[in-house]
Amino acid sequence: MKNYHVLVIAYPGQGHVIPLMDVARCLTSNGLKVTFVTTEAIHKRLMCAWSEIDDTNDLMQMVSIPDGMQPRDDRDDMAKLFQTMSQLMPSKLEKLIEDINKANNEKITCIVADYCMGWVSRVAKKMSIRQATFCSGSAALLALIMSVQKLLDDQVIDRDGVPLKYQMVQLSKSMPLMDPAKFTWECIGDSKASKIMFNHAILQGKEAAEAADRIICNSAMELEPGAFALFPKILPIGPLLASNKFRKQAGHFWSEDATCLEWLDQQPVSSVIYVAFGSYTIFDKNQFEELALGLELTNKPFLWVVRLGTSGSTEYVYSSGYVERVGTRGKMVSWAPQQDVLNHPSVGCFISHCGWNSTMEGVSNGVPFLCWPYFADQFLNASYICDIWKTGLGLNKDDTGIVTRLEIKRKVEELFSNDIFKQNELHVKEKTMDSVREGYSSDKNLSDFIDWVKKGNENAPASEN
Ligand code: UDP
Repeated sequence: MKNYHVLVIAYPGQGHVIPLMDVARCLTSNGLKVTFVTTEAIHKRLMCAWSEIDDTNDLMQMVSIPDGMQPRDDRDDMAKLFQTMSQLMPSKLEKLIEDINKANNEKITCIVADYCMGWVSRVAKKMSIRQATFCSGSAALLALIMSVQKLLDDQVIDRDGVPLKYQMVQLSKSMPLMDPAKFTWECIGDSKASKIMFNHAILQGKEAAEAADRIICNSAMELEPGAFALFPKILPIGPLLASNKFRKQAGHFWSEDATCLEWLDQQPVSSVIYVAFGSYTIFDKNQFEELALGLELTNKPFLWVVRLGTSGSTEYVYSSGYVERVGTRGKMVSWAPQQDVLNHPSVGCFISHCGWNSTMEGVSNGVPFLCWPYFADQFLNASYICDIWKTGLGLNKDDTGIVTRLEIKRKVEELFSNDIFKQNELHVKEKTMDSVREGYSSDKNLSDFIDWVKKGNENAPASEN
């Protein structure tokens, strides 16, 4: 047997590690050895939840390198993290590869890097290792990144990514209209953070995409034909859902509270509002309160993920009497087995921040959305849901910037009373899930990708066993 050894490196975010772990497991289940690299901080969190994962393969080893932040630094400060990572990690990665390569029959033959770790492409090039980019976001997001030069040439943005024109941009037909003020790097924090994100994440991502021998994306041709037509180099291999191939999802930063599945079993079919905002979203006390009261006002059963941790709504204490009033109609958990939740027949609606993974998971399970984007590419994803696929509605903020309890009640009622959203969602689900069937587009692209990974090592010596 030949020695294939793929180094997979993930951006240290929940929405990156989970799908890249799926990619890594696809590789190991095809007999390829994988070294999965992430940062030390994330590695620790992964290891805490690791015991719950029962089907990982001996072919995968987990390793970490430092991210350049100090132990007490806020790792949710993306701009700072991007800066420190791109300063320190290249030399650390190079050293890691050198050390691995010293071992017999262990040489790294290919690197699969997260599109947010653009600097990896320089390391790969320097060390003459074949490289692929993996996009855990939409193809539209990657198309936007790959169109930056055109946006500069057309003076839509300046050299720091700051919008110069306030007119909607559509990169190609069937892609969402984009408001330059909502370009992903513009929705990160203040203007300083946006500039850092543009220069570190976006420009490096563009460079990496151009340098990559292959680009794979957790999306489906049927979902984003315009983006894939615009950049045929981007190959859809999604939706990457653990349930398609593996018994359990891997790569969680928090322990999943499975009691919510038993609670879901007790609820009527398509009755439950599932409320989850991924791993970054933070609400202030006011907004949290409105959301809590809005859910109460709907009179429907709801399952709400209220994340525990260092930030976000975690310090919040529910207002007096709230938990008693909602009783068993409301189930709050700190982290849910989301793919299983969305696959449960009781779930009728998903109030979501529209992270791309959540979007793909909702779509793959035919669950209509109420969209509440928080930052980065989530506005673009919400636009796919509301304007292109028409599988959900947006939750609008009032003049004070709050999504009120009445808005939540109104939109929940509209979504549940109008069948069209569910019908559209089922239609999109059918097309999307077709793509991962054997021999169909995403399945074929994934097989071709694995073949390509293997081919790179055709001339390697066979190992003894
Ligand atoms: N997720 C989960 N349990 C939760 C909330 C989220 O397993 O209670 C998973 C979800 O299934 C998705 C990932 O966390 O795979 C979040 O990724 P996404 O891109 O949606 O959002 P991000 O966290 O990157 O903002």
